[in-house]
Amino acid sequence: MQVTTPDPLPDDQNTEVALRPARLAEFVGQPQVKSSLQIAIDAARGRRETLDHTLFHGPPGLGKTTLAMLMAREMGVELRTTSGPVLEKPGDLVGLLTALGPGDMLFIDEIHRMKPALEEFLYSAMEDFRVDVRIGEGPNAQTVPMALERFTLIGATTRFGLLTPPMRARFGIVERLNFYSPEDLARIVERSARIIGVPIDAAGAVELARRSRGTPRVANRLLRRVRDYAEVKAEGRITAPVAAEALAQLNVDEFGLDDMDARILTTIIEKFGGGPVGLGTVAIAVGEDAGTLQDVYEPYLIQQGFLERTQRGRCATALAYQRFGLTPPTDRQGTIFDH
Ligand code: ADP
Repeated sequence: MQVTTPDPLPDDQNTEVALRPARLAEFVGQPQVKSSLQIAIDAARGRRETLDHTLFHGPPGLGKTTLAMLMAREMGVELRTTSGPVLEKPGDLVGLLTALGPGDMLFIDEIHRMKPALEEFLYSAMEDFRVDVRIGEGPNAQTVPMALERFTLIGATTRFGLLTPPMRARFGIVERLNFYSPEDLARIVERSARIIGVPIDAAGAVELARRSRGTPRVANRLLRRVRDYAEVKAEGRITAPVAAEALAQLNVDEFGLDDMDARILTTIIEKFGGGPVGLGTVAIAVGEDAGTLQDVYEPYLIQQGFLERTQRGRCATALAYQRFGLTPPTDRQGTIFDH
């Protein structure tokens, strides 16, 4: 696995818990999301109502789970956590829903991967706070309606487009998380460094932030790896040169691109003349799952201006050619390379 993957790696878990902000005010960045959540929370608390069902979408590692935890904390309620692929049958959901107290929250990560049969089941829970439970098997089966406490569902997804329209329509609050600016990521790195007790100067934090794919999870992970390097080579202190050396050893380049990013771009350039080429074809050529390419790699490459998604397929931009010291073709299909 790549060190800059925004998906969680096994050794992230312990520190992630310690590094999660405890209050919404401590959550760095995403100012619009934060302020609209704060307003919704203040209003719900003022009226002593439960919070509207809330959906967070955006690439992995940007803080969707963290925000769900913070919302529960701010509302003073319990949060139960599950995920779309874990829920097998209606009974799994009923168990979770009936355990919720008044105002509690149920967090469903990767909600786009929930089975369609369960999705329909969730609708009545979300809308009417009621579920129809089937008791028994075959011809003697009975459906018994069961009332639930008013609760808040918090859904998270990396693939907003895969949610069905009726599902989307049931969320009162829908927030998209975007990649973090280097400034915000540097603040996150400085805060995390304080918590794990590693000295870092401002330039060191900026260097780490620049190479973290706009993603707090990656920033926190790179911080841990760079700390190890600094302990061995630089008496434990992270400065910009120490961070740059450590990250070069990890094959993270100055844009935060890693081996897979480089492979995607060079494949499009070298094997497909810069594109346009279909996602499935790129996926086979680089040996990665198409869904992972779309969720994990493409959003950052597009945001950084290396890749373009057109109706006819993916295209490498002029910036991508420059990145690999190549000259973009100038006579190709109009505007594709005019970046
Ligand atoms: P997601 O659910 O979107 O995949 P998480 O909420 O699990 O992402 O966040 C991954 C890690 O990044 C966590 O350790 C979390 O503490 C950290 N993190 C995410 N957003 C922020 C933020 N705005 N400020 C500080 N830390 C953050």
